Amino acid sequence: MKILLVEDERLLSASIKTVLEEDGYACETAYTFREAEDRLVTRLYDLVVLDLNLPGGLGFELFEYVKAMETRPGALIISVRDGLTDKLRGLDLGADDYLVKPFHLDELLARVRSILRRRHPEEPAELSLGNLRYQLDTHAVTVAGAPLKLTQSQLRLLYYLLLNRRRVVAKESLSDYVLQENVGMVDSLDYLYTHVKNVRQKLRAAGCDVSLDTVYGLGYTLHQGGERGTCALGE
Ligand code: CA
Repeated sequence: MKILLVEDERLLSASIKTVLEEDGYACETAYTFREAEDRLVTRLYDLVVLDLNLPGGLGFELFEYVKAMETRPGALIISVRDGLTDKLRGLDLGADDYLVKPFHLDELLARVRSILRRRHPEEPAELSLGNLRYQLDTHAVTVAGAPLKLTQSQLRLLYYLLLNRRRVVAKESLSDYVLQENVGMVDSLDYLYTHVKNVRQKLRAAGCDVSLDTVYGLGYTLHQGGERGTCALGE
């Protein structure tokens, strides 16, 4: 899958590119309106990640090229403009999603995957690691083929970790995702620790060969093969 990233903030662009490439996507970058225009008329992409405020023009104006492309790519807008008018205009022009800055890179990756999955339904409809399987349509989870019963919050937690399975997920972004509208209303991290503990126990009890590891100071990650429980960076 090939992604064009149009973002003029170099540091942000570099972090996004790294995350996308780590996840197996090919990512090209454009830093100005003009560069983006050049790439969009000469190359094909599966997805365009588009900042709206660009040197040389507004990202909105690039949609005519996106639409004109033979295999019309998906489009994800990333912007500091969080007004309803901008969101509606973007979605009207054909953007698949709209993410307001600042955002967690995990969240961006989740949106990218979700857009590409919707546009390429022939791709496998499950997430898997070791003997753990998560069916994306039914949200059924199995360990070595046997159903694993999880609560809604535990399902969300496992889903998010599986989506980001090659990375360490920050505690804060995991808690935002798992608790959703309840975030901020409760002691979010305490709730998260409880959910992590329960999911970890359920996986272990079911004989799962994937463990939910704590990476001290950073967050959580799924690890296949053997029990580790916790691990330090660089281990
Ligand atoms: Ca910008």
